[in-house]
Amino acid sequence: MVNFFPTPYPDELLYSTLARYCMRSGNIREIHNFEDLFGTRNCIAAMELPTQLDALIRNMPVNTKYTAEYFIYKHTLFPFLAAFIPQKRADKIIETMRNGEGAVSYIRIGLISNSITLNKYFRFCPECFKEDIETFGEPYWHRSHQITGVFVCPKHKMPLYNSTELIRAGNRQRYIGASHGNCIVEKEISYSNDLMKKMLWMAEDAEILLNNQFGFKEPEWFRSQFRVKLVEKGYARMNNYIHQKKLKQDFVDFYGHEYLQLVQSPVLNNSGGWLSDMVRKNNRITYTVRYLLLARFLGISVTDLFNTKLGFNDEDENNIDAYQELWDQRLIELAQSGLSIRDIADILKASTKTIRKAIDRLGIEPFWKYNGGGKYLHQKYTDTEEFNIKREEFRRKWLQLHVQYPDKSSNKIRRNNDGLYAWLKKYDGKWLEGNYRRIKTSVNTVDWAKRDAELLPKVKEVIKEMKEGKPERITWTTIASKLGISGWLSKKKEKLSLTREYIDSVVESIEEFHIRKIKWAVEELEMQGKEITLWNLAETAGIKPKYMKEIYKEIEQVLNKKGYDCNFKW
Ligand SMILES: [Zn+2]
Repeated sequence: MVNFFPTPYPDELLYSTLARYCMRSGNIREIHNFEDLFGTRNCIAAMELPTQLDALIRNMPVNTKYTAEYFIYKHTLFPFLAAFIPQKRADKIIETMRNGEGAVSYIRIGLISNSITLNKYFRFCPECFKEDIETFGEPYWHRSHQITGVFVCPKHKMPLYNSTELIRAGNRQRYIGASHGNCIVEKEISYSNDLMKKMLWMAEDAEILLNNQFGFKEPEWFRSQFRVKLVEKGYARMNNYIHQKKLKQDFVDFYGHEYLQLVQSPVLNNSGGWLSDMVRKNNRITYTVRYLLLARFLGISVTDLFNTKLGFNDEDENNIDAYQELWDQRLIELAQSGLSIRDIADILKASTKTIRKAIDRLGIEPFWKYNGGGKYLHQKYTDTEEFNIKREEFRRKWLQLHVQYPDKSSNKIRRNNDGLYAWLKKYDGKWLEGNYRRIKTSVNTVDWAKRDAELLPKVKEVIKEMKEGKPERITWTTIASKLGISGWLSKKKEKLSLTREYIDSVVESIEEFHIRKIKWAVEELEMQGKEITLWNLAETAGIKPKYMKEIYKEIEQVLNKKGYDCNFKW
């Protein structure tokens, strides 16, 4: 039992508080301190994740306000080290910290891969050291200074220094506090501004993890968060293909080799490595520092990473769906044209692995297996009847396209028919060369001023229609599609000054569109004699609740103008 317990200071390690206890206990033999604190000699003085905390609480003075949970979250490195592990595993570690004996094996519990070497010495910030003496009368070990991968004090934005105190020394049955004796600056450290900037990012992000309980999440959560940004930034496609090479290159450009080396997370050009593993479908948990590196690189704040489910916005989602559909469609065509997987991969600029997966996903018949199915084992594909039929068909198609588009060059035609083109190029190259139309680009003879003048009234008409009835968002795309000129309207807008000026003055942002939908929905509900509730509004207007919340001020304005009370619970 202990009859007093020092108050833990802000950001102080429990280890350090225990060291201050030992200093004051008056026990001559260290081992008696362990008996006082834990009721046993079988204990280890652990810095990062101490154990036997339930025993510690039991041995506290009666009516103590401390709990094991309090120490775990406020005075150990647990919130940092365990930030990215699932609930189940976190529960296990907490249980070990409360009732386990000896040291927690970081590797066994999957907090740290064996490629990370933990700090050897306790670290300190000379400014904090001074301030702590002024404020509390004594120095102490800060937990935010002890994280492997953090090199600066987030408060003073200054380099951290190694003390002379080993974190894992001898039999680890002593608690040793910070002191003038072991916190000495022998040689000043200075980092380049560039390194300093990155070190500060990490120190600040780590501090956020230490000081918040975000709640534990499954690996899928983080993978999905990263994926949204990877797609958004062009490092991944919806079909799970990831541009590893580009990702690695940009990542290294962003952080620099030197810094990545310092945080024990180098990114090399060869295949594999921790970064590739992290963005692949992979549930292995890696060191917290690496999650923070990737999040920062992708522009996700720590808080958003945990608290905001990132997603594709509606428009992206549609675009991505449309893109995926188009891609699938082309793959089917290409597969049916008898090209090899390699050829298809080249045309679609994807890896053969991606193509194989997509073929499985789409259940496409393996049309290209002419030589593999046994049927043509002793015959070349080009000698088969199937080949002759296909060649006739493809030649006919090629010529027909040129009839259909008399003023398009073959280069243009093949853009929308790359499967056809690739097949002919591969199996019928000579014929193709003889039937290839080359057109020199001619001077553009369209009278754009005239076209502009003719277009404007039509555009006005269409927009007027769009403003009546159930609201449709007014954008360049929707206007063009109403006019049946999706192909060129926005591409030629620079040449259509009158039309452009008018359209630009009426196109709507997503918020403006939502507000218009709300106004319409209010009238609609009035007409139907329904009550104006938040739910009815959202449903009638067809706006997701999260977007409703974003424009709640405007919604309230609309309703107030109409004389409605607006006391929705947002
Ligand atoms: Zn400091």
